[in-house]
Amino acid sequence: MIEDFRYFVNKQKFETLNKKEEFTLRGEKSLTAFYKNFTQISPLRIYATELYLNHVPFENKFLKGFVDRIEKNTDGTFELYDYKTGSAKSKNKITDGADYEHYLNQLRFYKFAFELLNPNTKVAKAGIIFAEDSDKNYYITLTEEDNEIIKNKIKFVYENIDKMNFNPPEKSEKTCQYCTYKQICTLNLF
Ligand code: SF4
Repeated sequence: MIEDFRYFVNKQKFETLNKKEEFTLRGEKSLTAFYKNFTQISPLRIYATELYLNHVPFENKFLKGFVDRIEKNTDGTFELYDYKTGSAKSKNKITDGADYEHYLNQLRFYKFAFELLNPNTKVAKAGIIFAEDSDKNYYITLTEEDNEIIKNKIKFVYENIDKMNFNPPEKSEKTCQYCTYKQICTLNLF
């Protein structure tokens, strides 16, 4: 794993040699710590990795998302996981109204989109794997109530998009420059 990591790091561009060394050390440390966690999962459980959920039909719109890892349980239910770098966030911060509510909404979104795309399937569990702090991973059992919560949030966002009621990205991000809708978008900053 470490050898592969070094191979791919060497193919990347870094601003400075110091940055490269800093990221290499950080990556090697994370992989070494994460390895024991990783080897506890049987490869037979892995249903998909880096699964792109595209063209998920939702009312008269589409959703898309990208799930890092999907495991399948023997009872046919699924577990969805997202990997994050950086320090772990505590459970009381990953909750409605807290600083990292968006982590919870991300997991709700994955469950909702995955079940929409795969009717008759159930996501029994979801979680965030903190690759650099994997003793503090976050796990949650999501319910139909979570589906309702995220469904209403998605509808709210789409209603506002339809009314052009949203904040455009920062100009420095250059997102507008490459956006497919820049010719018709009145918020186009480019
Ligand atoms: S051009 Fe409009 S739709 Fe496209 S990224 Fe910019 S603000 Fe968003």
